[in-house]
Amino acid sequence: MNSHHSSLSYLDPARAEPWASFIEQIDRVAPHLGPLSHWLETLKRPKRILVVDVPIIRDDGSIAHYEGYRVQHNLSRGPGKGGVRFHPAVTLNEVMALAGWMTIKNAALGLPFGGAKGGVRIDPRGFSRAELERITRRYTSEIGIVIGPDKDIPAPDVGTDQQTMAWMMDTYSVNVGHTASGVVTGKPVALGGSLGRHEATGRGVYIAAREAGARLGVPIDGARVVVQGFGNVGGIAARIFRENGAKVIALQDAEATIANPLGIDIPAALTHATAHGSLSGFFGAEPVSEDDFWQLECEYFVPAALEGQVTPERAHNLRTRIIVEGANGPTTPAADDILRQRNILVIPDVLANAGGVTVSYFEWVQDFSSFFWSEEEINARLESIMVKAFDAIWQLALEREVSIRTAAFIIACQRVLAAREQRGLYP
Ligand code: GLU
Repeated sequence: MNSHHSSLSYLDPARAEPWASFIEQIDRVAPHLGPLSHWLETLKRPKRILVVDVPIIRDDGSIAHYEGYRVQHNLSRGPGKGGVRFHPAVTLNEVMALAGWMTIKNAALGLPFGGAKGGVRIDPRGFSRAELERITRRYTSEIGIVIGPDKDIPAPDVGTDQQTMAWMMDTYSVNVGHTASGVVTGKPVALGGSLGRHEATGRGVYIAAREAGARLGVPIDGARVVVQGFGNVGGIAARIFRENGAKVIALQDAEATIANPLGIDIPAALTHATAHGSLSGFFGAEPVSEDDFWQLECEYFVPAALEGQVTPERAHNLRTRIIVEGANGPTTPAADDILRQRNILVIPDVLANAGGVTVSYFEWVQDFSSFFWSEEEINARLESIMVKAFDAIWQLALEREVSIRTAAFIIACQRVLAAREQRGLYP
């Protein structure tokens, strides 16, 4: 079927990670799509890729250049949607995969968006606030030709936050000549941000864990939880797990790996991390080795950092019942197979971490209508969308005897490819 497809230079070598993992996940869905699989190649190439130069004057007067990207993977179901990552390891290949996962996530949840993602290859910790503002503004201005409230709507991701979104909203607004609050989500509430958005990804991770636990008979109350990543996703998820009676027995961030079998005091750890920029030096737990961290006995393991963390080797060693993916792409397809053999349930990123973009959707709707909802209303709607998606995906996984990831991909690909088919190809 693919005989007419020539390869593209930026996909070559097409199998470089993490895009290769995304392609592998798409390939695994093909047998389940019936006639719609005819359109599947659509998902194996991003619709639109923009690479931009981001030059700034540094505080010392020198000129520096950084590389930025915005990838619109698929726009069949609506405008592009997905975060912007500031991280030293950002590559085009990574942004392509992250954009692809947004296509799947938005479709799996039924949000009226396509998938997109952006990034700048910098270590944000190496810049002053004024330099970060200049990088953000120049990047926004450069991608201004492809973003917009009805075109593509960025949001925070690793290394960016509400301040980044405020600068992006302001830069875009200045360039178009009017305040366009709907151009980004994850903004400060004072600028048209949504109540509950900051916590939404962590809250969604918790909801996904709770739903999985209820079906497997692994109650959150009293469960042991290990969390990799202690930022906007892992930090908040850890807090909500603990509020619901779980014991967070180990944490890892970029600088420290710590454990306490009695359960870590999460509010204290959050206060420490905010004050010192990392968990390192936190007295409420003992340092443990990387190897030990991946072998701790627990009921829930939450990778909430970066891609490719659950490798085949770690999949063999993990001693957990349920993996809840707070990060995007933390588990490689080979590791997925091992976990399935070992009967460890994986709640995939495209479902487990979809709470963030779900409340981004609410933010975008509120900005359009200039009518703002209460936090109770937002959390109730988040809960209902997450639970509904979880139910449908779980049911399909049972029917087809596939993993939860494959079931989520089946539902998402059906929606995206049906839209593709109904719209038809132009010309
Ligand atoms: N960066 C988040 C994600 O990976 C949120 C995206 C959004 O809100 O648009 O899902």
